[in-house]
Amino acid sequence: MKAFECKKCGTCCYGEGGILVDERETGVIAAFLNTSVETFLKIHCEARNGKRYVKSGADGYCVFFNKDRGCLIHQVKPAPCRLWPFYPALLKDPESWREAMNACPGINPDASHEDFLKEAGE
Ligand code: SF4
Ligand code: SF4
Repeated sequence: MKAFECKKCGTCCYGEGGILVDERETGVIAAFLNTSVETFLKIHCEARNGKRYVKSGADGYCVFFNKDRGCLIHQVKPAPCRLWPFYPALLKDPESWREAMNACPGINPDASHEDFLKEAGE
């Protein structure tokens, strides 16, 4: 039984500039977009506390979320996006994993936390 299968609903792409992007990823994403690091940072990112985050658009979704196509930088998306929903807190705490189901319809409520842990390790 699959413990997670993304439904491409975009819920996890909604919110105020919460996606951290590190220096290596900045270069990779800029190259993927065929632009310079400077332009990528200026147009698509915002700085907070000395760190860079991907911006949200006026609709509240990440600037790279497209409602028809999903993530426009899927192949090179930042680590938090690649990792979700297999975050350490959800692996460690079954209660947090259960709560995350309210936000992410891709987490299978019929699967067990053990199934989720197993899939995280695959
Ligand atoms: S909230 Fe879950 S199902 Fe929806 S796009 Fe994000 S990972 Fe996929
Ligand atoms: S980079 Fe892609 S997966 Fe990550 S929040 Fe933006 S649209 Fe969603």
